Amino acid sequence: MASIVVLGAGVAGASLAKSLRKKLDSKHSIKLIEQKKTVDYQASYPKITVGQRRPGNVTRKTNKMHAAGTEIICKKAIHIDPCKKSITLEDGQAIFYDFLAVAAGIDATKADTKELALAGYNLYDIKNVSALHNILKHFNSGKIVLMITSLPIKCPCSIYEYAYMLDEWFRKKGIREQIDISLYTPEKIPFEVTDKKVSTLIEKKLKFANIKIYTSQQFINVDLDNKKIMFTSGNILYDLLLYIPHHRPPQVIQNSVLSDETGQIPVNPLTLSTGWNGVYALGDSSRIKLPRGDNLPMTGEFAHFHAMVTSDNIARKIQKKRPNSQFSGKSISFIQSGAKAISFTANFYKKEPKFTLLPESRFGLAGKWAAEKLWLREHK
Ligand SMILES: Cc1cc2nc3c(=O)[nH]c(=O)nc-3n(C[C@H](O)[C@H](O)[C@H](O)COP(=O)(O)OP(=O)(O)OC[C@H]3O[C@@H](n4cnc5c(N)ncnc54)[C@H](O)[C@@H]3O)c2cc1C
Repeated sequence: MASIVVLGAGVAGASLAKSLRKKLDSKHSIKLIEQKKTVDYQASYPKITVGQRRPGNVTRKTNKMHAAGTEIICKKAIHIDPCKKSITLEDGQAIFYDFLAVAAGIDATKADTKELALAGYNLYDIKNVSALHNILKHFNSGKIVLMITSLPIKCPCSIYEYAYMLDEWFRKKGIREQIDISLYTPEKIPFEVTDKKVSTLIEKKLKFANIKIYTSQQFINVDLDNKKIMFTSGNILYDLLLYIPHHRPPQVIQNSVLSDETGQIPVNPLTLSTGWNGVYALGDSSRIKLPRGDNLPMTGEFAHFHAMVTSDNIARKIQKKRPNSQFSGKSISFIQSGAKAISFTANFYKKEPKFTLLPESRFGLAGKWAAEKLWLREHK
């Protein structure tokens, strides 16, 4: 009998636990550890902002997320010991495993400074996003600043999606000309994890929507009294500040021997295995160095496919078969641009990834909708 422990019930962890349960005999135990009582579908946050979703529509109770036969442990993990093959929970309980999948994500819920927390709304936090929707209902004129404080961030296209959706929201309300929308990013070009072609299209769409973009911006802090954001390049004023904060790998990973200097866990790009026997890392907790020199972007799409590969390979190992599933590094991405979506395909495992743009269409929007529907249905 094998004991499998999955840490984190987000996109990667919940999919992995569910898929493994279907493949394995009930004599094998699967434990899913999650610190939060509810887990939400983060890709829907931009829709919450403009009232296309309510938080309750895209949130699932953790204890309802399992397939029958998976044990859910709703506690925080505080220590991973790959030598003893154990995980310690906040109450001191130790859980032992034969196979461990670390899928604890990356935390983007804390503002970089206390001033920033007071000044603006965190676009990567569901409570902030819900509160922002109520603010937007009464925001009739002024300057909105969207800002990324540091890189890397998960879903690097989301800030552009937020900007396009805000443009559409104010256009529909008939007050767009009273609102100034500006976007500040440390990226050298818009959506820099892609290529010149995709970046140019993003920029063109921003221009068309009358959204100003300022690249290579390094955030310092906010002057609350004067409603001023300080960048190394100078200061700017805002009326409404929306930000994506610095991302921090969970403490349990940062403190473990599994992580490297980035705080994430380096893995084999094809199998998501770590250097430790029986230990895998997937989704935003993992770090995959790409042939072109940077790391694989952190997205839900990749997290899902990491889970599928890991599920196949753990199941085959338990069944004494040769693991044969490999992660391809390929993606199809959708960026909601109002009533349509920009879509592109790419293979990030190429030395020079080729990005193929698909025509902007409602079909792309359907792709996003289908991914959301799948997650919600799978974990109801
Ligand atoms: C606004 C926004 C829009 C996005 N849009 C898209 C999109 O359009 N397309 C796309 O592909 N991706 C998108 N993403 C990115 C996507 O949501 C993430 O990449 C994905 O959720 C990563 O999955 P994961 O399982 O690695 O981490 P998560 O889904 O974040 O799950 C990690 C889980 O681990 C738990 N955990 C952490 N530490 C512990 C601990 N110590 N003990 C127990 N549990 C722990 C957490 O509570 C969490 O539930 C978006 C993200 C945001 C924020």
